[in-house]
Parts: sequence; C-alpha cells; structure tokens
Amino acid sequence: MIPRIGVLAIQGDYEAHARALREAGAEAVLVRKPEQLSGLDGLVLPGGESTTFLKFLERDGFLGVLREFVSIKPTFGTCAGCILLAEEVLRPAQESLGVLHATVERNAYGRQIDSSIQVAETALKGGPLEMVYIRAPRIVNTGADVRVLAERDGFPVLVEQGHLLASTFHPELSADRRVHRHFVEMVLAGREPSNRNS
Ligand code: GLN
Repeated sequence: MIPRIGVLAIQGDYEAHARALREAGAEAVLVRKPEQLSGLDGLVLPGGESTTFLKFLERDGFLGVLREFVSIKPTFGTCAGCILLAEEVLRPAQESLGVLHATVERNAYGRQIDSSIQVAETALKGGPLEMVYIRAPRIVNTGADVRVLAERDGFPVLVEQGHLLASTFHPELSADRRVHRHFVEMVLAGREPSNRNS
C-alpha cells in the first residue's frame, strides 16, 4: 500500500517535504484547505514561522479541523511544525495544537548561532544523521510517553509519541531519507495515539 500523506502547504518548505515523502515511498498531497485533510493517512507540518501558520489557520476554522486530525492521525512536525504540535510553547507563549506532550522554547539558539548543520547519532539505524537547524526551537521538557530518538546538547531534537513524530531540525533539507522513511513506516503501521495515563 502506498500511503497518502498530506503536507500543510501554507508557508515554509512544503515542496521539499513533498519530495522527501515521495522518495520515502509515499504519495504526497499539498494541503491548503481544511477539507483536503479528509482521506489522508498522515500529515506533515513543515518548518516556517509558527506565528504565520497560526494566523492563517485561525481563519476558516482550519485550526479546529487540524486539531482533530493530528489528535488521531500520524503527524510529523518539523521545526515550526514541532512548535505547532507541542502542548506548551515558550518565548513567547502562544497557541498550539497541544498534542505532543512537550514544552518547546522558540528560537532557542539565539540570533548568532541560530542556524547550523550538525551530524549526530540517532535511534534510527544506519549511522550518524545530518541535521539542518534554522532558527530552531528547543524541546525543554517531555512527557513520560515521549521517546527521544536524538539529542543535541542534552536536549531532544527528534521525538516520537504514539502516532506523532517531531524534529527541531529540517530532515527534508538533507539528502538522507531515513527520518521520512521512519514516518512513512509509522503511517503504514497505523500508529495510534499514546494514552499518557496508561
Ligand atoms: N523560528 C520559527 C518559529 O518560531 C521556526 C523556524 C523554522 O521552522 N525553521 O516558528
């Protein structure tokens, strides 16, 4: 089965995600309207500017439909997408979809060293992974049901929680497709929401 995975195409690097998903064996669908979410097996929330995403989503009831989708269907948020998924956002506090049991601090690396490329080990097989950071947030706290797949300076940079995957870096901007393949596998496995209290 080839899964149909949407990429929220409001702003940011959605084309790179669509390409990465296709290379990882999925069909990629650009999503610009709430009704386009129906029939999708999963969704990617790309990087960009989370405040801009929120402004757009607050129109036309998109935010409510999206919140419903991400609470049950496999969703992968990168950078601003990770901020949107998080339960708590700091610096400054802002609204979010609130499904990922994590606290995320925006623009946590300061202005001078805000963008960089690092190579680090992850829980994914195949050796070290290139990680592109662009004005990246920092995951400062995670719930007990969040599995950390990679860290930078002791802070999680790639995490999963039931049907959710989130990274503070941009895997779509590297040639390595392991992170997108991992997400496609999550979709194919029909990953379900974790029950935090179980
Ligand atoms: N700094 C952005 C924000 O706060 C995220 C940056 C990114 O997605 N590359 O939304």
